[in-house]
Amino acid sequence: MTDGLTAQELSTYLLCPRKYEFEHVTGLTGDTQQNQDRFRQLLRKAICTGHSKARKNDADPHDTALEALDSTWELYADATNHHSTQQETTEKARARAGIDAYFDTVGAAHLERIEQAATICGRSVIGPNIILTAEIQGQQVGVNVDYIMAGESQIVGIRLTDRMWGSKVPYESSDDIAENHFDQGEYEPEKVGTVIRARIAEEALSQYMSSDMESELTYLSVLETTFEISGECQAEIEQRPMDQFLVDSRQTIDDAIAWIAGNISDEIYSPEEAFDNQDYWNGSFEQVVENSCKYCPYAAGCQEKIRREVIFDV
Ligand code: SF4
Repeated sequence: MTDGLTAQELSTYLLCPRKYEFEHVTGLTGDTQQNQDRFRQLLRKAICTGHSKARKNDADPHDTALEALDSTWELYADATNHHSTQQETTEKARARAGIDAYFDTVGAAHLERIEQAATICGRSVIGPNIILTAEIQGQQVGVNVDYIMAGESQIVGIRLTDRMWGSKVPYESSDDIAENHFDQGEYEPEKVGTVIRARIAEEALSQYMSSDMESELTYLSVLETTFEISGECQAEIEQRPMDQFLVDSRQTIDDAIAWIAGNISDEIYSPEEAFDNQDYWNGSFEQVVENSCKYCPYAAGCQEKIRREVIFDV
């Protein structure tokens, strides 16, 4: 927990202020994302356990990560609504393939850089879910990363995920994600959310670096591509350094963080009030309705959604 707002909370507000209220003020939990979130959490826990035990006991990180997956699988499976045994078996094969791909390609190099980060930062550098905090435009904000690694010129927070698209991490480095959203009203709240996370991580990690170093957040998906060879599931990882999306948008993102934090502090949870008739974002509540309401786990109890349906019926 942080004293301020987390990147997750800021992103949820950007998606829909009423959704933010349901989740973070009223304390309701929707069901839509839970299974996928649990699966990501399982992968994060297994990989971080591999690194932790390798550092403490000189254990093989790959073997240890697979053991961690096996030992927590039953708990995960009990909490998850698998439709069939076949679905559960397939999902476990995918998880193992993702862990294999991670340790076959980057695991050893990352462990070395985790050691360097531990020396530089003098703090815990392996999570999952280490909270980094920063102050941006007077707002205390925080972000979760799964581990921190460092080299000669860089200190990097790594956020593990199953697939980039599942986290809505942007692909197009040439796109000005933040400017497009805020200046032109192109509704991309989840992508902007990942850029907000990157900005907070960059600022938070900068406290540990020397003047000739840079800091950044990198998303690392362990199941970006999956395929079958001889009946076995194989996976490929992908890494996406997020500094490419911050090049010209730091000021825009910092302003956005201050705007959202100010609205939350003023308890503005009505999407109309937050998004219509304001100068900051060239969008409107209509975009929330068109894009987010149909996937929202709170739709059945949401006054805005119900009111719109009543108006439509009349
Ligand atoms: S149903 Fe629509 S308006 Fe209501 S909380 Fe969900 S996204 Fe927001």
